[in-house]
Amino acid sequence: MNRTEPAQAPQGHATPGRASTPRAARPERRLIGIPVSAGVAIGPIFGSAEPPTQVTRTKIHAADAQAEISKFEAAILQSRKQLQKLRARLGILPEDSQAEIAPLLDAYLAMIGPSRLVRGSRRRIAETLVSAETAVIDECEAIAEAIMAMPADGDPSGRKRRAEEVREISRRLLRNLTRTPFRSFAGLPAGAVLVAESLRPADAALLNPGQLAGVATDEGGSDGHTAIMLRAIGVPAVLGAAGLAQAAKPGDIVVVDGSTGEVVVNPSTATLAAARRAVTAFAREVQRLGRLRRLPSVSQDGVRVELQANLEIPAELPLIAQSGAAGIGLLRSEFLFMNRETLPDEDAQFETYRGVVEAMEGDPVTIRVLDWGGEKDIEALQGEGLVPEVADQNPALGLRGIRLLLRETELFETQLAAILRAAAFGPVRVLLPMVTTVGEVRAARDLYDRVLRRLRRRGEWLPERAPPMGIMIETPGAALSADALAAEADFFAIGTNDLSMYTLAVDRGESDVAHLYDPLHPAVLRLVQFAAQAAIGSGLPVSICGEMAANPKLTPLLVGLGIRSFSMNAAGVPRVKQAIRALDVGGCEAFAAAVMHESDPARIQALMEAGPG
Ligand code: PEP
Ligand code: MG
Repeated sequence: MNRTEPAQAPQGHATPGRASTPRAARPERRLIGIPVSAGVAIGPIFGSAEPPTQVTRTKIHAADAQAEISKFEAAILQSRKQLQKLRARLGILPEDSQAEIAPLLDAYLAMIGPSRLVRGSRRRIAETLVSAETAVIDECEAIAEAIMAMPADGDPSGRKRRAEEVREISRRLLRNLTRTPFRSFAGLPAGAVLVAESLRPADAALLNPGQLAGVATDEGGSDGHTAIMLRAIGVPAVLGAAGLAQAAKPGDIVVVDGSTGEVVVNPSTATLAAARRAVTAFAREVQRLGRLRRLPSVSQDGVRVELQANLEIPAELPLIAQSGAAGIGLLRSEFLFMNRETLPDEDAQFETYRGVVEAMEGDPVTIRVLDWGGEKDIEALQGEGLVPEVADQNPALGLRGIRLLLRETELFETQLAAILRAAAFGPVRVLLPMVTTVGEVRAARDLYDRVLRRLRRRGEWLPERAPPMGIMIETPGAALSADALAAEADFFAIGTNDLSMYTLAVDRGESDVAHLYDPLHPAVLRLVQFAAQAAIGSGLPVSICGEMAANPKLTPLLVGLGIRSFSMNAAGVPRVKQAIRALDVGGCEAFAAAVMHESDPARIQALMEAGPG
């Protein structure tokens, strides 16, 4: 979507331990990652290492020393895991790159093994009673200074390089200790391509699509929340391109193809010319699809299929309006809680929801209550002591979604009150995330009714009827008890991202297992079918709001399974509408029956390639 010509090299952060060579001398380097957001970007790379984390030096009380040491040890463990993961993935790089990068990672790992750095930091916390962050800064600085004071032994640049390696590991530890956003994007120059080892969803939410040409990272999976956020802001992006952050230097030109997953560092003249042609072709296609906006979403045999948009951040509203979506089928409210120190109060939330509801001018808005957990970090929740500072060992199976809200009822009730007040300004539905039991829905409804009564007593302006309260079907437990849940919920939204992750035991945001993440796996499809039938049999509205909904190749199958409502990233709406306008529902039903008859993923894949025919 974006194309920006390289103007000037941005001020990124130099990768430590690697001397810079003139650009002309560097050969073209191709890497393959996971395409997550369509479009081609051409631009200079913005930094591949983190900026120094802002830390204030603090003293602690003797009674807190043990807790501080535990925090330090958790950061060491996390840093080791990150580095070991990078080390394990080097195998897919060419041999010369491996030879260059592996010793560097080994040096980092040695520094946070049984080392002076670890012993010294621990001692500083216990004996001088300083915070873990202060101990790391002081110890690393002392080591770096000691290295610089050593005799040069014929390699003057070697000392400098080793001292910089210590500072680099210090930066990693501090980032993990403070859990601060991955980087500041304030200095990101217009037209640059952001290249990083990894990117958190909260960091992706800070990116300005008007400034940025594209994104490419070493880590990440196709349906993780970072990928979803990048699709939402419409920036061409490739995640999971192993070795990229180490191979690329700030200022190098890079081509990122968010449709094929190819990332080319230092492209040749021929590669650049081909990339420019791809940019033009993509822009033409977007323009062509834009013409579908006003056409109805109706099949050849006259069946209407509702197409709505998912919303990650309010900045997407203009894109949603352009897409022709008939409302918002999933408003992920996490953005309200991200990148802030304190929780938003009822009035602040109300204003935001009302803004979205009014912008939709009478089209329905489904607001999902906070789905904290998994890979979604929310500092404000940690700051308020509602969730632990150090993430669970297994966050995807922990206190996620409705589980946290039913424990922290004030948080839940505040959000429900804000949503109910916004519902006076247009049609709204409330959606509960990560439901697994009927009891959770009942408990949520009790709270919902209580909040409604309280608001009425307060004399708030409210809708005449309470907005419907539905549930996400995104765990195998929920899908398999969909018949019982249908008696409690007002609607279902099938979240195929988490449903695939939990069914297949594959982390949706993890590049190492990305090849196993398959929403077309027969187990996932059977759960979707069971849940859809339970809803249809009970007369309950049912939609698909996982990333599957945006793939037009899957539309015939999902329509054939009885789905008549889809919610997806705004950019996906025109393509899915095009698919719907071309299909025949009778044919889709026969096609779905044939697919569901298969239990072999390869056969299913082949049938999907062939289509309903
Ligand atoms: C899903 O899990 O499919 C879903 C839509 O929710 P999220 O992607 O926000 O987890
Ligand atoms: Mg989900």
